[in-house]
Amino acid sequence: MATIFWFRRDLRLQDHPALNQAIVASKLDEDGRVFAVVSAGDYQDARELSPLRQESLLASWRSLNEDLGDCLTVLNDPIEGIIELAKREQIHQVHVSAAFDTNSVSFMKHSRSALEAAGLSLVVGGSNYAVPPGKVRKPDGTPYRVYTPFYKGWLAVGWQPPVQLLAGAIFTRDTKLHIGFESPSYPAVFSGVETDFTALSNLKAGESFALRTFKRFIDRGALDAYQDGRNMADRGGTSHLSHALAHGEIHPRTLLSQLGDTPGEVVFGKELAWREFYADVLWHNPTSLTEYLEPRFGNMRYDDDTEIGRQRLQAWKNGQTGFPMVDAGMRQLLRDGWVHNRVRMIVASFLVKDLHLEWQRGAEWFETWLTDFDPASNSQGWQWTAGCGTDASPYYRVFNPILQGLKFDPNGDYVRKYIPELAHIDGAAVHEPWLLPKELTSGYPVQIVDHSVERDESLARLAEIKVG
Ligand SMILES: Cc1cc2nc3c(=O)[nH]c(=O)nc-3n(C[C@H](O)[C@H](O)[C@H](O)COP(=O)(O)OP(=O)(O)OC[C@H]3O[C@@H](n4cnc5c(N)ncnc54)[C@H](O)[C@@H]3O)c2cc1C
Repeated sequence: MATIFWFRRDLRLQDHPALNQAIVASKLDEDGRVFAVVSAGDYQDARELSPLRQESLLASWRSLNEDLGDCLTVLNDPIEGIIELAKREQIHQVHVSAAFDTNSVSFMKHSRSALEAAGLSLVVGGSNYAVPPGKVRKPDGTPYRVYTPFYKGWLAVGWQPPVQLLAGAIFTRDTKLHIGFESPSYPAVFSGVETDFTALSNLKAGESFALRTFKRFIDRGALDAYQDGRNMADRGGTSHLSHALAHGEIHPRTLLSQLGDTPGEVVFGKELAWREFYADVLWHNPTSLTEYLEPRFGNMRYDDDTEIGRQRLQAWKNGQTGFPMVDAGMRQLLRDGWVHNRVRMIVASFLVKDLHLEWQRGAEWFETWLTDFDPASNSQGWQWTAGCGTDASPYYRVFNPILQGLKFDPNGDYVRKYIPELAHIDGAAVHEPWLLPKELTSGYPVQIVDHSVERDESLARLAEIKVG
């Protein structure tokens, strides 16, 4: 009996229990064919996808296609395509990995009904987590909202070792439905930002690339130094595996199985656990994808609907706030589709607490541009920084973007890399261009706000909802 395997955010062949399940099912008779399909229609519910995001997805698909021996079928519409394919090939089962984020849960619910109405069964197996969301619970059965106890519970639940791809699958393409891997033509200006076609042609992705990236991370000593190196924006101290994890090009179990108990390895495992924690929080609180996890913050005064608020949002998006560390981060986002974690926190805190805009405005912009976009890590990462999410980041902890820059980019290398107007300024002085003669910083904007004034303003707004 031939089967269909519907790849979504699990674009790999190894350590893939759901795919193995489809292979087993396909071999129940002499047939053995597995039609591997993906669909751009899976992303219809997403906000706009920047050219960077579209290309990174295409790069993942092309790589998966190579691994499948040029047999991946790209469908126009996932449901219509699967039904048509199943009818033609007399297929009864469609296999897919379990998904847990808010939009995927409702999309899969809708997909199941549509497929069942057409006489197909949807077989769900595996997940992109070492411990699937919903499994780690407090002794009283309720979910955790604080990371550290979750982490202990997560370790206690544990996970299976990675599994190998089962041999003997006959991956087959449906040439009638396959629409190919062509890049669409991109506008020169997308969402008010000039498209950088150089970055698009440099994108690398896929399972082998992810495995090589992890190996390089270990070989260059970054895993050993990770506990300190991970925070520094000016160094390549992190793994850059977030794209691979978000697209499921590598399973976290594969990474965890290679970690020992040195400080760097333990901290790296803890970061993978943050990803799992946020997936768990979103699973239990599906509306927190777009709404405040801590509802009282919805009552705060924000400037989203004011003219000044709109202007400031645009300056933030374009990396034109006059705060070098913030602008470097926002320009890294537009150039690379990836931003260092420390800098994500700095730009997020700035949006909410210096510009008084709601975290959702920033999360939406990240969703458009981040090639590692993950609904759980993004929504909860934003809420954590905005002080309305899980864990111990109180709202009144306001990041000072200048001090953060001096601490996590002490020689200014990170800022110089992304802000050409300041590239000629030596050392840490680049973090405070307003202290330099004007002719040295021409072309770089003046600060759009005064940080200390806005810090006080945000605390005053916090006091209003505390009283109310
Ligand atoms: C406002 C904000 C938005 C974010 N949005 C996303 C997002 O859309 N997608 C995304 O994958 N991560 C997001 N993060 C988390 C984090 O910034 C990235 O995972 C990290 O920068 C990826 O780089 P890396 O792979 O080199 O990380 P490494 O430091 O090498 O960490 C290894 C892996 O652990 C996980 N991880 C590390 N830190 C975190 C964290 N704080 N939260 C959750 N998982 C983590 C990631 O999967 C990462 O790939 C966000 C953080 C913030 C503050």
